[in-house]
Amino acid sequence: MRLSPLILAAALTVPFAGQASAQVWLNADTSKKVNQSNFRALEDWPTPNDLRRASGAPGSKYWQQQVDYTIKVALDTTTHRLNGNEVVTYHNNSPDKLAYLWFQLDQNIEKNDSRANAMSGALPKGMDPRFRRFLMSDTEFGYTLNRVQLVDAQGKRKDAQYRLNGTQMRVDLDAPIGTGQKVQVVIDWSHEVPNGGRNGRGVKEKLKDGWEYLNAQWFPRAAVYDDINGWQNNQFLGMGEFYLNFGNYDVSITVPRDHIVRATGTLQNPNEVLTATQRERLKVAFAADTPVYIIKPEEIATPATRPAGSGSLTWRFTAQNVRDFAWASSRGFAWDAMGFRYAKDGKTIELHSVYPREGMPVWNKISTKAIAQTMVTYGRMAFEYPYPQASNVHGAVGGMEYPMIAFCGARPRPDGTYDKSLEYSLAGVTIHEVGHNWFPMIVASDERMWTWMDEGLNSFLEHYGSKEFDAAWPEMELPGSAKSIANYMRRPGIAVPIMAHSDLNLRNTFGANGYTKPASGLVMLRERIANPAAFDEAFRGYSQRWMFKHPQPADFFRSMEDGLGESYNWFWRGWFYTGYNNDQAVTNVERQAAKEVVGDESRGTGYYRITIEQKGGIVMPVEMDVTYTDGTTERVKLPADIWRANEKVFTYGKFTSKEIAQVVVDPDEAFADVSRANNTWKKPATAPLP
Ligand SMILES: [Zn+2]
Repeated sequence: MRLSPLILAAALTVPFAGQASAQVWLNADTSKKVNQSNFRALEDWPTPNDLRRASGAPGSKYWQQQVDYTIKVALDTTTHRLNGNEVVTYHNNSPDKLAYLWFQLDQNIEKNDSRANAMSGALPKGMDPRFRRFLMSDTEFGYTLNRVQLVDAQGKRKDAQYRLNGTQMRVDLDAPIGTGQKVQVVIDWSHEVPNGGRNGRGVKEKLKDGWEYLNAQWFPRAAVYDDINGWQNNQFLGMGEFYLNFGNYDVSITVPRDHIVRATGTLQNPNEVLTATQRERLKVAFAADTPVYIIKPEEIATPATRPAGSGSLTWRFTAQNVRDFAWASSRGFAWDAMGFRYAKDGKTIELHSVYPREGMPVWNKISTKAIAQTMVTYGRMAFEYPYPQASNVHGAVGGMEYPMIAFCGARPRPDGTYDKSLEYSLAGVTIHEVGHNWFPMIVASDERMWTWMDEGLNSFLEHYGSKEFDAAWPEMELPGSAKSIANYMRRPGIAVPIMAHSDLNLRNTFGANGYTKPASGLVMLRERIANPAAFDEAFRGYSQRWMFKHPQPADFFRSMEDGLGESYNWFWRGWFYTGYNNDQAVTNVERQAAKEVVGDESRGTGYYRITIEQKGGIVMPVEMDVTYTDGTTERVKLPADIWRANEKVFTYGKFTSKEIAQVVVDPDEAFADVSRANNTWKKPATAPLP
């Protein structure tokens, strides 16, 4: 384009209020003569390639490993030990030759010499009794490895060389395996089910009707080898959860005859482990759209709930294309179930809730309905649930997720009474933990590195799932509440950004940085910054293109920008890459006669200049309510682009014949403004006559 002389002259001579002569940047180091604008491209993103594209999609050469497991495990309720044998089939789809495999031995976090134990330091002077069960006991927990063997092509086994490093184990192969090759490793192991411990995700608990075992991260699992980390063999320190390969599972679980087992996958032998009555009730339940009891509360632990006979029973479950396997076992479960269908004639997804007596009367009322809500909200906002079943189990784990099974802790008082808030707790934690099937169980990000990629995105969808479950959900309890995150962001000294390793986000920053800050940021982006319909399309796009794959942070940001059709580098930078906050202030409002400015009153008799300052460290759009002396109010919305030239001050100009009485920035408290005191300007009261 060629500039007309008129435009050129205007640009040179008209002193627009919003244009400073030099750029003014927030947080700039003035000694550096480099671009420090919040709007510059994010330098942290890796160069796109054939594995991960600039659009945020997986590339044509994208690859990932597959690992299948056949596991036989027996629960010994006298010693509380699991004794397992697993055959691991490792498929090398990478372009590289692998001479060894790494395994995650998460149970080793419970060993007395574990790094997590060392990191924890001294105990505080006073301790909430609820947390005492997480203390290390004198018993040595963690794995006993009885045998690690390689299986050759003829099926012959020989002992393998292996080396332990804390929670990681390297198993050396006989010969490197190339692309398209596979290798089998057999591991015999045992460990005591922890009481809580450093992991806190798999526990045993003694309840009224006997012991309950929640088994999580309970078997040696192959670490991920990928294009970003090579081997992802970060130690398990407790916060960074896990990063695992997709594969197929065939798991046989032997438990006492009076136990009921729920697990990842589909039960293969219902005729052997369920009674005829239970099988009949399940059929009725799957056809129903409200929960139906499979084991009624009054039937808990009665002989009629178990097949006749003696000796232990083996429950066999299989699961396809999952990245982990968890299970729960107890003689004290009540059980309800129902069917869920996305379309009237669509396939039935089984929804199950099992809970000991201690969970009633809230679990039987809320749990299965909350699973169904998750199916609806997440199905619409990401993708329809692809697995055959989803289970929720009540136990001593506050909330934890595995493919097709969640453990949730919300529990009434010992006498069975509870407040309404417990219903919200249970519904919220159920939506959250079942919601983890989407992130990270299916959109399988690297949890050991990036807590926010699953917790944040999941909390974002939980926000909407909760609101849809109950329109009266208290706002401050919603994970995406900007008002609530402002309380965190105004705290001084929070320097750790969302984009930090999971185990760097410790203690007082973990919940906010992993969960609510990313969730509230995405709610903000969806509802206030971008177009909600475009956002939803972009979010579904990201979710669906990374189903059953391993996205990285830049894949998410790029996918969103690809779908939204706009760069939001300034937003990702401010909200995800820094610990700065948003603090907008109205610092001045002045009026001039319109005639003086433009020579006539055709646009109004007065011209107002409203000065807005950014006193925090990030740029954000501006929303303000301008109220006139006649009592009317007008909402003004300005894009973040107003800060491109000067990130600290912007003066907004407005013609009107009315008189401005008040200006409020961020009137809906939607942008997590940390200081509300400077958000309002009021017309000074007219001075009384002397
Ligand atoms: Zn979570």
